[in-house]
Amino acid sequence: MSKIIIAIDGYSSSGKSTMARDLAKRIGYVYVDSGAMYRAVTLYAIEHGMASTDKGMDTGKLIKALPEIEISFRPAGEDGIQHTLLNGVDVERRIREMDVSNLVSPVAVIPEVRKHLTSLQQQYGKERGIVMDGRDICTTVFPDAEMKVFVNASPEERARRRVLELVQKGADVNYEDVLKNIRERDHIDTTRKESPLKRADDAHLLDNDKMTIAEQMDWLLNLYKKITGSENRD
Ligand code: C5P
Repeated sequence: MSKIIIAIDGYSSSGKSTMARDLAKRIGYVYVDSGAMYRAVTLYAIEHGMASTDKGMDTGKLIKALPEIEISFRPAGEDGIQHTLLNGVDVERRIREMDVSNLVSPVAVIPEVRKHLTSLQQQYGKERGIVMDGRDICTTVFPDAEMKVFVNASPEERARRRVLELVQKGADVNYEDVLKNIRERDHIDTTRKESPLKRADDAHLLDNDKMTIAEQMDWLLNLYKKITGSENRD
């Protein structure tokens, strides 16, 4: 079978980016982290005084600025991580910081931002052979994707994993703040009018609360083989 589109949606910090990236590597596909694109737009808004926690959001200004925001990805190097570039500058670390996490969901509810990023994401999918993760990939970006997965885990487990990840990266965070941010983002992401986070009817459910990363990879590879009738590259 020729290359397919693999769409993975799920809640914040459900581990979907790690599994999407690893799956892409295993089967020789391109990986696109759509959340990083929303984060990059948010960082641009923060840096240009259009978004802050005290002053709110200048939505009009941000919409006007969208054509000036160029987002690209540098393929994974020695660190094994794909880096997000905002107007040519590597912002991979910066977009994961708490101020961006706190403002990204309000930015992601803006319909014009969604339209702009959805169209960029659909262009990435033109060649197929892509794994993309996010919130609306199965429902809006690639409703015809051949393989759809919805990832779920409890907010507490997700917060625990996120703290571990941030601490490993040297960030100073505490569990309660992270859990609060996850709950807030879940609420905004699932209740927004435009492309809310929800499981597509034809998405396979991966409940990974008690699964190891290796078990999740086996689950994904089995599904991929079932859908394509192929073996993975290893
Ligand atoms: O995946 P990540 O947690 O980095 O995404 C950050 C935020 O970007 C999400 O909480 C959500 O508000 C937004 N997002 C979205 N649609 C996507 C991907 C991310 O609204 N496809």
